[in-house]
Amino acid sequence: MKYRSVRGMNDILPAVISQWQVVEEKIRELMIRYRYHEIRPPLLEYTELFKRGIGEDSDLVGKEMYTFSDKRGRSLTLRPEATASVVRAYLEHNIDTKEPLQKLYYLGPMFRYEKPQKGRSRQFHQYGVEAIGSLDPALDVEVIDIAWALLEELGLSGLSLRLNSIGCRADFKGYRQKLKEYFATRLASICENCRQRYQTNPLRILDCKKEECRLHIQSAPASVDYLCSECSRHFSAVRNYLNQLNLTYVIDPHLVRGLDYYTRTVFELISSHLGAQDSLLGGGRYDDLVELLGGPSTPAVGFAGGMERLILVLKEAKGRVDRMARPDLFIAALGNESRSLVISLAQQLRRQNISLDIDYRSRSLRKQMTYANQINAQHLIVIGPDELASGIGNIKEMDSGRERKISLTVEGIQAAMEK
Ligand SMILES: [Zn+2]
Ligand SMILES: [Zn+2]
Repeated sequence: MKYRSVRGMNDILPAVISQWQVVEEKIRELMIRYRYHEIRPPLLEYTELFKRGIGEDSDLVGKEMYTFSDKRGRSLTLRPEATASVVRAYLEHNIDTKEPLQKLYYLGPMFRYEKPQKGRSRQFHQYGVEAIGSLDPALDVEVIDIAWALLEELGLSGLSLRLNSIGCRADFKGYRQKLKEYFATRLASICENCRQRYQTNPLRILDCKKEECRLHIQSAPASVDYLCSECSRHFSAVRNYLNQLNLTYVIDPHLVRGLDYYTRTVFELISSHLGAQDSLLGGGRYDDLVELLGGPSTPAVGFAGGMERLILVLKEAKGRVDRMARPDLFIAALGNESRSLVISLAQQLRRQNISLDIDYRSRSLRKQMTYANQINAQHLIVIGPDELASGIGNIKEMDSGRERKISLTVEGIQAAMEK
């Protein structure tokens, strides 16, 4: 083979695209109901944005970014996630001056330079929401509710919410200190990465998936025990709203998110279709990020989920989602003369919102009929010299085999298909 796609960059082929479209349409439809507006930041940003926003010593920025220099030697990075870009755009265009609370969502590719393996590629896709401009705990719960509604309306059951509060920057100090004390005597038995995390940010140890580390994490100090009174009030309000809306949750005292910008509420949504450890989406508050990126102090909350993973789980959960499966109609042509009528009818019917196909490979009538069966067309019309001359033909309902006489006009065909 001559050319291959870049390692870790996958084609999403027509055979599976319907599943993507079903999910994308559900997201867009849901966002209209919750009144979130789409934003589409560019895929490339100056590297500095992510270093500053996500944290220079995070795994994501330290090891996984797709960074390169442009022709003028400026360092650019393909976005590894979208929140930093959304906040950058929010500030750059003074979006907040029009409406202080901005409710935004995005869909699109992200890039991380990781070792490609099953279920993990270097270009992957995320969907997410960002509600910027309010510290109202009801907004945390709205964001969680969107995530919940999305997964539920896509047909996933057995959802469970893992919830925690990691507090504000001021609370981090005390908690970090406690974690340091706790892990100090356990340094010999945690993984090498975590020994490094111990130096840079001991909170990140809690995110480690390694068996040897999980063992110690289980009995590590809990962040909720180090919340200031304001963070504590916020967290209890979030829990009250969740109860009120029947969104059941489990407090996970060691849930932290991999990125530096999170504060207060953090959460993950899990479907029982997956192994217990794996979440479908996650998010939380990031009340300092806007300020960190040069804006005024502005609280915010959001979540992000991976499309590839969601589609995989949906497939396991309920088989194929394929809205291209059944065209309304196939029009077969017998002989060259009838073809021009077939082409005209196809154009006009398609513009009347009927999905249909015709033959473009000079197939025999028999092969055209076989093809109509193959694509699972709901109706079939054959137009030959007789039909062309009389303007009258038959429409066959493929499932029942029932045939009816119709006039071969757009109106005639439309009327027959409505019955
Ligand atoms: Zn606090
Ligand atoms: Zn570890």
